[in-house]
Amino acid sequence: MAKIKMTTPLVEMDGDEMTRILWKLIKENLLEPYIDLNTEYYDLGLEYRNETNDQVTVDAANATKKYGVAVKCATITPNAARMTEYDLKEMWKSPNGTIRAILDGTVFRAPIKVKGIEPYVRTWKKPITIARHAYGDVYRASEMKIPGPGKAELVYTAEDGTETRELIHNFTGEGIIQGMHNINASIESFARSCFNYALDTKQDLWFASKDTISKKYDHTFKDVFQELFDTEYKDKFEQAGITYFYTLIDDAVARVMKSEGGYIWACKNYDGDVMSDMVSSAFGSLAMMTSVLVSPDGYYEYEAAHGTVQRHYYKHLKGEETSTNSVATIFAWTGALRKRGELDDNAELMAFADKLEKATIDTIEAGEMTKDLALITSLENPTVLNSEDFIKAIAKRL
Ligand code: NAD
Repeated sequence: MAKIKMTTPLVEMDGDEMTRILWKLIKENLLEPYIDLNTEYYDLGLEYRNETNDQVTVDAANATKKYGVAVKCATITPNAARMTEYDLKEMWKSPNGTIRAILDGTVFRAPIKVKGIEPYVRTWKKPITIARHAYGDVYRASEMKIPGPGKAELVYTAEDGTETRELIHNFTGEGIIQGMHNINASIESFARSCFNYALDTKQDLWFASKDTISKKYDHTFKDVFQELFDTEYKDKFEQAGITYFYTLIDDAVARVMKSEGGYIWACKNYDGDVMSDMVSSAFGSLAMMTSVLVSPDGYYEYEAAHGTVQRHYYKHLKGEETSTNSVATIFAWTGALRKRGELDDNAELMAFADKLEKATIDTIEAGEMTKDLALITSLENPTVLNSEDFIKAIAKRL
């Protein structure tokens, strides 16, 4: 059988620990036998990041700008323990943070649904995709402890020196204050990424904030979304048969719990932080969650939502058997291949992505799965496979 050809390279970012092991197995068993893989390879494993003073991460992000689509393996974000473990020159920043800063994107996280792994929320029939704004608000706030009586104010000094003041509170005793910000350009690119992704995946878009209480701050988010929608996206949404829906955050939460799923929920930074963990654990497993960074300029970077599964890697190093779930990493590849196929008009590549996803889901639904899923499945007597045999079981179906 002739292998599928690729006209444009896919940016491939290798990673660390157990997911690096899975990465190789996936390529050898599920991709290379069928595709003439055309990738531009960047080794984001911590050793090479350290060797290149993290230049490799910047190069990989720039390559994504050049080619448009990347697939990324999970990587270690160094902390004090990693400094000694890997003898690092510096505590390098999170690669995801570096890439996000260069591509300026929004991260969309969606669960992979299979029969036998049921969401804890009974009504959820379809995936709920969370889009989290990744800039500002409480994550870039300044805070102060107020020691005693006195006046706290917000002060804005314009470039010409004129001041605008707003009273926060007249303190009569001890207290606390916080000043946070956002910028319209960032809110707009967040909105743009959300609208584009909704069109891309043909799903409704929900957005919520607390604009009734926060009449300037949250209301600006609401206005930026609405204005962009009205001027640039309304017709496109109508043509695609999807809707944009704005509501208050408390109403959104209530509706999400009673919904069937099947939409994108755009969240402000803090809401997204909290809600993405709620939604992902309610869907069953972090190992079944995909993640894609979508830039407002139309670049895509696909990855698994989980980390490098360090504990399994140490077992692997000791020669012990592991049963690490490779589903989200496989779906990172299929997402990237499908998008590459779409951009290059490569129907064969897109069809392959569909087939690989189906083979993966069929394998689990037939009762063959990794240990993390076997522990939560409603299927009787699942067969627990090790990391490699699970991938081989998918290959057999493929
Ligand atoms: P982790 O996601 O690797 O693991 C958390 C827990 O979830 C593990 O104990 C494991 O039991 C379970 N789990 C996660 N993925 C699984 C899978 N595929 N199969 C089976 N079980 C799975 O997160 P962590 O342990 O907090 O972090 C490990 C390393 O990963 C850290 O160095 C961290 O910096 C990095 N990390 C990277 C990313 C990324 O690259 N996107 C994200 C998160 C963490």
